[in-house]
Amino acid sequence: MTVRVVLATHNAHKVEEFQQILGASAPELEIVAYDGPEPVEDGVTFADNALIKARGACAHTGLPALADDSGICVDVMGGAPGIFSARWAGHHADAVANRRLLLDQLSDLGEGKRGAHFTATIALVLPSGEERVVEGLWPGVVATTESGEYGFGYDPIFIPAGHDVTAAELDPAAKNAESHRARAFERLIPAIRTLSNRE
Ligand code: IMP
Repeated sequence: MTVRVVLATHNAHKVEEFQQILGASAPELEIVAYDGPEPVEDGVTFADNALIKARGACAHTGLPALADDSGICVDVMGGAPGIFSARWAGHHADAVANRRLLLDQLSDLGEGKRGAHFTATIALVLPSGEERVVEGLWPGVVATTESGEYGFGYDPIFIPAGHDVTAAELDPAAKNAESHRARAFERLIPAIRTLSNRE
């Protein structure tokens, strides 16, 4: 039996990504796009914001809902940009401006002081009111210059632990296998399984 789960994003690429990854372990799952109103993301943590989006989509559709929130957290900056990652250089800034600002802010710091991680948080909210939040971290360092053409956002300036190239130089399949999002999905699958077995 198919279990429909709404993904609280208007981004078709994300729906496809969730369907591919979750579909591999839970083929009965059908991820559907959300086209309802988007709540204001005024949480102060990734989990807050993922829950706000998932609760909104669940309430609007009556379906189990998933939502994610992610960003880059720099140790010396106390975890910033964090939840402000998408708009670090301002509300109208793009990824290029965000990366430039972060590189500039860290420009005096040498190797050993540039520790950071990506975080991905995924919330699952059921119509019964049950909620689960899972998180995946991908540790690494902020590079001193940009390199690589793959990926998006901060990938060209993030060197994952165990690599000597940026996330934007890794083959996309290699990134997807070990990224923060992959790690969060790993934890989400058991939660989803419980749901599929119950419906
Ligand atoms: P959101 O979760 O789609 O709102 O993304 C938040 C922001 O975090 C994105 O705009 C990116 O700047 C950054 N980010 C999240 N995940 C990644 C990643 O895998 N690579 C690069 N940047 C990321």
